Amino acid sequence: MRCMLLLLAMAVVAREATAQDDQCVRDRAAMVETIRSYARSAGTSLGPQGLSERVLEAMAQTKRHLFIPERSCAIAYADRPVPIGLGQTISQPYIVALMTELAEVAPDHVVLEIGTGSGYQAAILARLARKVCTIEIIPQLAETAAKTLKDLAYDNVSVRLGDGFDGWPECGPFDAIVVTAALGQPPPPLIEQLKVGGRLVMPVGSAYTTQQLTVVEKITPDKTTTRSVALVRFVPFTRSQN
Ligand code: SAH
Repeated sequence: MRCMLLLLAMAVVAREATAQDDQCVRDRAAMVETIRSYARSAGTSLGPQGLSERVLEAMAQTKRHLFIPERSCAIAYADRPVPIGLGQTISQPYIVALMTELAEVAPDHVVLEIGTGSGYQAAILARLARKVCTIEIIPQLAETAAKTLKDLAYDNVSVRLGDGFDGWPECGPFDAIVVTAALGQPPPPLIEQLKVGGRLVMPVGSAYTTQQLTVVEKITPDKTTTRSVALVRFVPFTRSQN
């Protein structure tokens, strides 16, 4: 009898979990449709074609709710930034998709991210690139993100603790660099570690105001072009003391 009750309870729990999973799948699909139609609307920088199917597919496949502290799909799949603790936030999904699109990541690319945070942007990049290296300055966030990415089997991502200003030369050179914290100017070592033909995407401007989402393209070993794409609001790029 006790055994029967236990089996019944397990079946109820399993059914509830499946219902919750189904809801998450629907919420995530709705998020993708929201950002798809937003990207096509007037006033965005992408033109009428909007976001590419590759980037939208990566957004559809990546479980954002597993990267936020609440692990709630209702919170994760609204097109909003979400706090991840220690004063940091995971960007709004549309901005993650936009930065990924602007980085023009191809399957054989090596990509650097500065500002791992939750690991979500790194996971999106990892679905599109061959290898992703990501640097986070806050130890607790670096540790949690590395664990989340490992648990979810993102085997082509390496997380390093440190100040990303100096980049990660041993991992590069990079086809694309995505910086997810705001600074007045792109750090010269990052431009240095970019391949010719590569792009750096980052919010440029002062912290605590809006910044210009900027794309720097390296066109020769010592020449770059820069364009501003959208107004954004990111957390500050901080520097280590040593
Ligand atoms: N890309 C993240 C969100 C980033 S929030 C995600 O998908 O969740 C910006 C992150 O940049 C924060 O975690 C912050 O600690 C980190 N950061 C700020 N300055 C940094 C620096 N100099 N080097 C590395 N990381 C930095």
